[in-house]
Amino acid sequence: MAINAPEGTRDLLPDEALFWNHFKQTAAEVFGRYGYLPIETPVMEQTELFVRGIGEATDVVSKEMFTAVSGENLKRLLDGGTIKAKSRLSLRPEGTAGVVRAVVQHDLVPQGAAPAKLMYAGPMFRAERPQKGRQRQFNQVGVECLGAEAPSIDAEAIIMLMRFFEKVGIPASSMELLVNSMGCEKCRPAYRELVRAYLEEHADELCETCMTRAEINPLRAFDCKKEGCAAVMEGAPKITDHLCDDCRQHYADVLALLDGAGVAYAEDPTLVRGLDYYTRTVFEVQASDGLGSQNAIGGGGRYDKLAEEVGGRPTPGLGFALGFERCVLALEAAGVEFPKAQRCDLFVACVDDSVRGRAFALVQECRDAGFATEMDHQKRSLKSQFKLADKLGAARVAVLGPDELAEGVVTLRDMAAHTEAKVRLEEVVGELGRAIL
Ligand code: AMP
Repeated sequence: MAINAPEGTRDLLPDEALFWNHFKQTAAEVFGRYGYLPIETPVMEQTELFVRGIGEATDVVSKEMFTAVSGENLKRLLDGGTIKAKSRLSLRPEGTAGVVRAVVQHDLVPQGAAPAKLMYAGPMFRAERPQKGRQRQFNQVGVECLGAEAPSIDAEAIIMLMRFFEKVGIPASSMELLVNSMGCEKCRPAYRELVRAYLEEHADELCETCMTRAEINPLRAFDCKKEGCAAVMEGAPKITDHLCDDCRQHYADVLALLDGAGVAYAEDPTLVRGLDYYTRTVFEVQASDGLGSQNAIGGGGRYDKLAEEVGGRPTPGLGFALGFERCVLALEAAGVEFPKAQRCDLFVACVDDSVRGRAFALVQECRDAGFATEMDHQKRSLKSQFKLADKLGAARVAVLGPDELAEGVVTLRDMAAHTEAKVRLEEVVGELGRAIL
């Protein structure tokens, strides 16, 4: 029986893989203008990093992590033994914890230094129940800025995220930006208590999951999609009415900067996001079509305590991540086609087998000179070679037959203009250069 890709994973076939490259390049170009530089961290980290960084009570850590165990350690575990804490590895469910770990480990933000602005792109792994827009391995692009708590960092990151989505082709009219503040360690505990008390008052109207959450993470009840719970949560106390003065001012400053930049947003005091580490600004971008319940295409927020959680000195931070596959669904829903990334500058067609050797050499010369060049490798008829050239979108076709070879020329056809001319073999590269320039 044939073996398929694991459940919840997808192959990116060439068109989509080319678009993924284009997507990453666009991110590097847009985010680069804001000073973000690339970082690559391992796809595996010590499990402890995610437990401490993301929070033990989150769904991501408690239910959705893929643990990676070497064959030797697996055997040890199956034999009833234990393994060292540092051998407990997990595939990263998100990118922030690893980047913050790297910043702490390499001291990328020494005291008094300018903030470190970092971006990453790559696969994340969550053992979720697969559905449309929800996979077990998916690709994210994300940024992290460590070492500055100014509201201008939050605002520029949000602006940059919206600029990226537009640049990659998602129409502004099919996205909505939601923002909120989650307060800080001064004001959130009291607010969390208020929500917990509210949940208890409404215990008989809430689902079991929300009631279990009431104890460990009452704010997650805002994320419950069940109708009854959503109705109860409409009346719950709102964080924005309970922010301390500093958080209220920080939030107002972020909103003023977004207003100044003309970025449209909606305030959503129920936006709490799933992860424990957020403080102050949180935001999410939702696509209006094509994604059903998994409509968040990107989101993030401030995490001023995370560096300390993973053993660093106090370092404020802010980041976001966006999902490639969900952006593809949003683009499809908006009727936007992937830009065609494959190019073929020249196709060399052989009239018969006797000229293959010279054609092969010509193809190499053109490639070495920087032109995307292709030929037939399956002894097709001249007619099918032209069909193939068409399929590849070849801008030009050079026809080489025994007569041409004897004369030292090719017949070079411009496929768009439907014109052709004889060009000496040694001048093909020069001619392509002139034509393309
Ligand atoms: P999060 O780290 O949960 O804030 O996710 C950031 C972005 O990653 C989301 O807005 C989605 O676009 C994407 N994403 C998160 N989880 C998944 C998943 N299971 N499958 C596909 N995309 C996802």
